[in-house]
Amino acid sequence: MNDPLSPHRLVFTDFDPADEKRREALCTLGNGYFATRGSAPEADDDGVHYPGTYVAGCYNRITSTVSGRELEHESLVNMPNWLALTFRIDDGPWLGPTVVEPLEHEQELDLERGILVRRARLRDGSGRTTRMVQRRFVHMSRPHLAGLETTLVPEDWSGTITFRCGLDGRVGNHGVERYGELNGRHLVDTHGNEVGENLVVLHARTSGSDIRVAEAARSRLFRDEVPLAGGGRTVHDEQAVFQEFTVDSNRLDEVRLEKIVALHTSRDSAIVEPVSEAVEAAREAEDFDELLSSHVAAWARLGDTFRCGLSTSAATRQAVRLHVFHLLQTVSPNTADLDVGVPARGLHGEAYRGHVFWDELFVLPTLTLRMPRVARALLRYRCRRLPRARRAARRAGLSGAMFPWQSGSNGREESQSWHLNPRSGRWLADHTHLQRHIGIAIAHNVWHYYQSTADEEFLAEQGAETILETTRFLASLATYEHGRDRYTINGIVGPDEYHTGYPDRDSPGIDNNAYTNVMTAWLCRTALRTLDELDDTRRAELTDQLDLDHSETDRWKHLSRRMYVPFHDDGIISQFEGYERLAELDWEDYRHRYGDISRLDRILEAENDSPNHYRASKQADVLMLFYLLSAEELERLLTTLGYAMPRDTIPRNIDYYLRRTSHGSTLSAVVHAWVLARANRRQALEFFDNVLAGDLHDVQRGTTAEGIHLAAMAGSIDLLQRCFAGIEVRDHTLVLNPLWPEELGALELAIRFRGHPVDITVTGRTAAVRTAPGSGKSPIRCACGSRTVMLGPGETAVFSLEHAEK
Ligand code: BGC
Repeated sequence: MNDPLSPHRLVFTDFDPADEKRREALCTLGNGYFATRGSAPEADDDGVHYPGTYVAGCYNRITSTVSGRELEHESLVNMPNWLALTFRIDDGPWLGPTVVEPLEHEQELDLERGILVRRARLRDGSGRTTRMVQRRFVHMSRPHLAGLETTLVPEDWSGTITFRCGLDGRVGNHGVERYGELNGRHLVDTHGNEVGENLVVLHARTSGSDIRVAEAARSRLFRDEVPLAGGGRTVHDEQAVFQEFTVDSNRLDEVRLEKIVALHTSRDSAIVEPVSEAVEAAREAEDFDELLSSHVAAWARLGDTFRCGLSTSAATRQAVRLHVFHLLQTVSPNTADLDVGVPARGLHGEAYRGHVFWDELFVLPTLTLRMPRVARALLRYRCRRLPRARRAARRAGLSGAMFPWQSGSNGREESQSWHLNPRSGRWLADHTHLQRHIGIAIAHNVWHYYQSTADEEFLAEQGAETILETTRFLASLATYEHGRDRYTINGIVGPDEYHTGYPDRDSPGIDNNAYTNVMTAWLCRTALRTLDELDDTRRAELTDQLDLDHSETDRWKHLSRRMYVPFHDDGIISQFEGYERLAELDWEDYRHRYGDISRLDRILEAENDSPNHYRASKQADVLMLFYLLSAEELERLLTTLGYAMPRDTIPRNIDYYLRRTSHGSTLSAVVHAWVLARANRRQALEFFDNVLAGDLHDVQRGTTAEGIHLAAMAGSIDLLQRCFAGIEVRDHTLVLNPLWPEELGALELAIRFRGHPVDITVTGRTAAVRTAPGSGKSPIRCACGSRTVMLGPGETAVFSLEHAEK
């Protein structure tokens, strides 16, 4: 049970085997470079526990044979388990999940300081009671270091305690049951050895990507705070190395073992090779307490950057804090120097194999306004893969850059071609890789980053090229249909993954997904604006380099005026062409028969049916337009395209699609909270609560155990800031449209906008904006309603939607 009373801590006051894997995901500790699940150090992958350590960007590809088919897949590799630690009393059995009876068991995750504490009282088979406290951290500012401290106090016995502590390479990728038929063995050539009397190292390499990984562990033993001399006895197991330390202990002595671990891989910069670096780092690291205090100081700095003062209930504050916490454990200041993307399920588990999707569209707004350097690094992950995306487009007979729907190491398409429906046990062809809107998300992020940071250098050097090449790709995907005098995009998949084809068509894909088409028109306009933002020299260079001439930009202009958007007869925007003609699903019947129907696709397939037959969506699709674009922007786009946007367009479409969406993706609740915020506050808050509950209460039943849902976590912060507080960036301007529930008191946020640290306080319909003092910075433009203010360093403006005053 989690005690929600403290907003700064997540506490589980019992041990529940059935819930353990979810708790492990929620209690993951990480620093952007690597993360380790909150599993018990004495546990193996035993059905109840699943130890997992993942290093950002460390992928490996292997081939499996499933139902006679060869499938190649790339996964974020589960690295050796550095936590491995157990103990025994006298000659008794080693502590293991089934060996002792926990009299008390509590696990506390400190969300402000990044420490996981486990407190237990254990009774062994001989009736001896031992108190145990374990603390661990994954260091936030020394990204290669982690620590685990175990303190034992014999309550009612005296005898010897032997610790067995080491590094365990007997791991594989087995964390997701439905991937069970796939080969999970990514690490090969695993060797461990002693390199000092209390120092061991274990190294291995990934079988295909040939990444060498090394972990070194230094152990020190204390009795009543007196260090005990003498080294451990090294024990080798196949693919694991342990050291055993024995100590005599009297009743109530405090015996403490601290283990400091260093992890390096051959992907690291500024190293010779990982083994010697890990050994040196572990040998020379400070002791546990010293490292802990610098780790806590790093978290305090981050806490300041991500300040989000809320006066809501403790449970809401706890959920928001948890989301910020896991966001920062996946992408942190350490990420700024790495070549990594945003893994959809964090570094917390193996779902989606650590792949990178369009989820960054929901993650970057929060980051860009707080850690722009990190946002830039994540964008550069995409920019570096531009050459491969170009080749992918060329191979598909198109131009520009076709980014993959699922991305991993080198930007190749990593989407699975077959997936298992656990309900029916059938392997099915998977066409979701046809989601061409991924490029739009990348371009949107680049553009938003530029607007928020004024980073002209990035735009000129990489961002513009990415926007232009993506535009080129979508423009080449569009065909001009003379009969319609419109451009259409056929044979693709939109954000709603339930619709991957027409019931009566052999080839996969649907035609004219409204989201993709409207956003293609947006992209064409944005590409032209991007060109205008560049200085003359760079524009000339880039257009020359890309061979971009007027005929092509004229086509973009034409596309932005003539993209086809499908509508139902009654004026509803059709999710795609033909959606209106699909059958209606009997939602009540399905709810009644199945209860949870969020994965309606699996239910229907198990009934030998398919969502392709129905007006039933997994997640927001048309509504994504209202999520990304302001009403004015959308109206401008549609009007330019020659379509009317009557005043009731937004509420009518929300109502229509809301009734036909199963919310099978956690992204759906984020989008619905946003689109409903101004029209139906109660329902918006219900969706917001659903976003907050997502992983904390495992809303998608069983999926949190396989990794957190990072986009929904980051999306909740974005909702607070963008949706309820009304803080947005548009046209290089900080736009304020506060509508903060009065009953929630004040919201205090710290952001960075165009180089200025900015504090914003929102109460009801009023927002106070304060820039930090400093010199040499150009003023920023802030707008609220019809009032626009230029704010220099150290200035404050108070906006109220009715009465604006400076
Ligand atoms: C959603 C996608 C999302 C992916 C990763 C899927 O369930 O349909 O939109 O990108 O999960 O979060």
